[in-house]
Amino acid sequence: MVRVDTVEEMFDLAMAFSHQPVPRGNRVAIVTNAGGPGIIIADACEANGLVVTELADATKAFLRDHFPEEASVTNPVDMIASATAQSYRVAVEAVLADPNVDAVVATFVPPLGVRQEDVAEAIVQVAAGEREKPVLAVLMGRQGLPQGLAELNEAGIPGYRFPESAVRALGAMYRYRRWLERPVGAVAEFAADRDGAARIIAAARAEGRAKLTETEVMQVLEAYGIPVAPYRLAATEEDALEAARGMGWPVVMKVVAERIVHKSDVGGVVVGVEDETALRAAFRRLTTEVPSRAGIGADEVRGVLVQAMVAGGKETIIGMTHDPQFGPVLMFGLGGIYVEALGDVVFGVQPVTDVDVREMVRSIRGIRLLEGVRGEPASDLGAIETALQRVSQLVGDHPEIREMDVNPWIAFPSGGVAVDGRITVG
Ligand code: ADP
Ligand code: MG
Repeated sequence: MVRVDTVEEMFDLAMAFSHQPVPRGNRVAIVTNAGGPGIIIADACEANGLVVTELADATKAFLRDHFPEEASVTNPVDMIASATAQSYRVAVEAVLADPNVDAVVATFVPPLGVRQEDVAEAIVQVAAGEREKPVLAVLMGRQGLPQGLAELNEAGIPGYRFPESAVRALGAMYRYRRWLERPVGAVAEFAADRDGAARIIAAARAEGRAKLTETEVMQVLEAYGIPVAPYRLAATEEDALEAARGMGWPVVMKVVAERIVHKSDVGGVVVGVEDETALRAAFRRLTTEVPSRAGIGADEVRGVLVQAMVAGGKETIIGMTHDPQFGPVLMFGLGGIYVEALGDVVFGVQPVTDVDVREMVRSIRGIRLLEGVRGEPASDLGAIETALQRVSQLVGDHPEIREMDVNPWIAFPSGGVAVDGRITVG
């Protein structure tokens, strides 16, 4: 599917796609009888992912022999205002034969004495038999325009009134060529504890809960081989202390309560807990002040999650949501608590292939942050891709999952780890 934004663009593209071959590459030759349109087309090419190609020496020599000295025989080929219909025959034929050229855009501004219809006819004559390289024409005069365009269109040469329209269509054809050549990719199949995850989901549903707890989410992720930071749910201060000693300081402590969705909004996440004193204070706050700030009873707190504190990564989000038309879609983006503010997420239809996840990860706007800027090391994009594929398998195996996210997935220079997540079941 090729997406267009306007009806005009739809017709422009349909004209090109329905009559012309899709170019093999993006190297364009421009043939014109005036400098301005040639430059406009060249600029439009750059903006549409096309290249104003260097013509082969033989082509340039041939054109040099056939055109006046003032003409430019480098691309854009500018035959100047004295060009006739015959000039178009010669030049278009020459660039079409050039091995450095994948597509041709011919444009004409009528000077006195040369008829638009005749130029159209000349372009048709040389381009009609071409099977490999698309030829698009731009007629910019007023007199004879309907006749000229009709002549072109009857012969299957898309004719446009504006240079940008032709180039936009050609750019779309080239993108389509790239899509045709894109490998299909494969959906990976990872070893996973499918039944273990199913049991956790079933238990929550049996209790009438739509939302898994933080620890249940971690267990489901672990069942699918998605790395999570070491954690333990502590019911008492002593439990929490023992957990922290077991995993090593510093730790992060989080309130666990079904009705607290965004823990940090209510002070429910305490990072950098360095020692016993800090741990005890945090535990008390998380079980008294925090629920009251969240407007829930202290008895609704299921406990405090003690988690190893990880440092030196980039926060990203990996998730899944249901699209009314596409069904389950995977999501990836820059994450953490600023995910909504950044709005830098991309989607892929489940199940995603290895090729899909590669493209997804690289198509966020902030990809350079993950590739390493200002001397920072690059994040492990491969680990993100694998986590995305594992989440894809997880939600495919368990259609009860309506929505989920791992936020943040902390991406390290090597590997990555989930420190928080949400799963909603239906
Ligand atoms: P919530 O999304 O419910 O507010 P999170 O568990 O995602 O809670 O924590 C909020 C933020 O705290 C994270 O985006 C991250 O910046 C930080 N954080 C949470 N857990 C850890 C951890 N184990 N190590 C380091 N930072 C963490
Ligand atoms: Mg979070």
